[in-house]
Amino acid sequence: MASDRGPSAGDATSRRRIEPWEFEVFFDPRELRKETCLLYELQWGRSRDTWRHTGKNTTNHVERNFLAKITSERHFHPSVHCSIVWFLSWSPCWECSEAIREFLDQHPSVTLVIYVARLFQHMDPQNRQGLRDLVNHGVTIQIMGAPEYDYCWRNFVNYPPGKEAHWPRFPPVWMTLYALELHCIILGLPPCLKISRRCQNQLTFFRLTLQNCHYQTIPPHILLATGLIQLPVIYR
Ligand SMILES: [Zn+2]
Repeated sequence: MASDRGPSAGDATSRRRIEPWEFEVFFDPRELRKETCLLYELQWGRSRDTWRHTGKNTTNHVERNFLAKITSERHFHPSVHCSIVWFLSWSPCWECSEAIREFLDQHPSVTLVIYVARLFQHMDPQNRQGLRDLVNHGVTIQIMGAPEYDYCWRNFVNYPPGKEAHWPRFPPVWMTLYALELHCIILGLPPCLKISRRCQNQLTFFRLTLQNCHYQTIPPHILLATGLIQLPVIYR
């Protein structure tokens, strides 16, 4: 039975899969691991074939490695649409955002969707502007949620035999907080999420500070999801 086997058993895709422990530490929204991991897939035109691969930081950021690799190995025909999806453990820094924009300018047939597990140095105004510029350039950026963790586990992780449904269930509150902060970035609002690390016990602390502008601008359903505000209840 297929469910008794891991993807490595006779699967030609096993070379591009990462190990379960790597996925769990790289993509845990509570971990502030220094390196970045990228899981990516490309689709060309109307082809149903999906080309998947993975990458990590070297001396360059993983986004730049991807752009160098893809432009040297692939020819982008202007009339053939190419869809690229990234699953990144950290969102791109401002320099990588700039490089991505240049790549998209040079390759108008490409669309890019980026799912991120965490926001990289999100208090830095340049990083915030970089992400905003990407969105204004037509790039979709979202925080990874349960469906993306499930998808990555099945398609990019060398999961143990019989464990294809055992993707890591990280507490959704962290994803909600990052999604809230990403909204602030895209809307040009000041940061509301502060993240700190206590070195002795390796714990990560998240603190939310919402100002009036946040309450006035962020869609209510996003705020409701954090549990910070409640819908008004009217008694008659
Ligand atoms: Zn970078």
